[in-house]
Formats: sequence, C-alpha cells, structure tokens
Amino acid sequence: MTKRRATWQKTAVFEALSADAVFISAQELHQKLLVSGQKLGLTTVYRALTDLVESGEADALAGEDSEMRYRICSDEHHHHLICRECGTAVEFEIAGFEAEISALASKFGFKDVAHSIELFGICEKCGMSA
Ligand SMILES: [Zn+2]
Ligand SMILES: [Zn+2]
Ligand SMILES: [Zn+2]
Repeated sequence: MTKRRATWQKTAVFEALSADAVFISAQELHQKLLVSGQKLGLTTVYRALTDLVESGEADALAGEDSEMRYRICSDEHHHHLICRECGTAVEFEIAGFEAEISALASKFGFKDVAHSIELFGICEKCGMSA
C-alpha cells in the first residue's frame, strides 16, 4: 500500500485550515501561518491545499470575487451558505432536493449530473457589526 507521505507542511496547512469553519484563500492562510511562526512558502501552501482538495478533506470554492477559498468540510454531499464578509460557512442540505434534481435531469435525458449550490450572504455576527 502506498500512502502519500504527510509532510509537516501539509499537516501545518491542515491544522491552520481546521482551526475555523471559514472559507479562506491561500494568501490569507499563508499569512495566518506566518503570523503563527510557521515559515511556509506560498507555493507550498497552494500545493498542500490542492492535495487536501484532491483527497476530499477540503472543499475549494470560488467566491463572488472569483478568488478560490478553501475549507475543511464533511465527506457528505452538501451545499454551503457563506458569509461574504468573514468567510464563515455553514453546510446544509435541502430535504428532497437531491431527488428532485435527479428527476429533472432524467426528464431531459441527462445522466451523471452533478451540481453545486452555494449561497452568499452576511452572517449574523457581521450583520450586527455593520
Ligand atoms: Zn464543503
Ligand atoms: Zn460574517
Ligand atoms: Zn446537493
């Protein structure tokens, strides 16, 4: 069995990312690591993030500004409700929605249909401080 070696850099990125349930850009995460005294190059941070997305540990999502942000998420299929101010995200599911989507797709003769639904708004905390 070949298991990819988890480098300390990847572990550091994973831990920094797991600290908050927010979507954060590679640059922001890089800054956070530097502040906490972990000297990682931005390229290393990008590579570790890509690895985490490939292994399914993290979700990558382009924000309204089209910048990619990352978050440690559950393995289950889910959608996100994201604060456009602070990046706080909630995972959600809509009862019956998945079945309706499949029914709709097959009605038009489509198969292997995938979807992603992300909602952007202002979270309660950010709404209060505004
Ligand atoms: Zn997610
Ligand atoms: Zn917020
Ligand atoms: Zn869904």
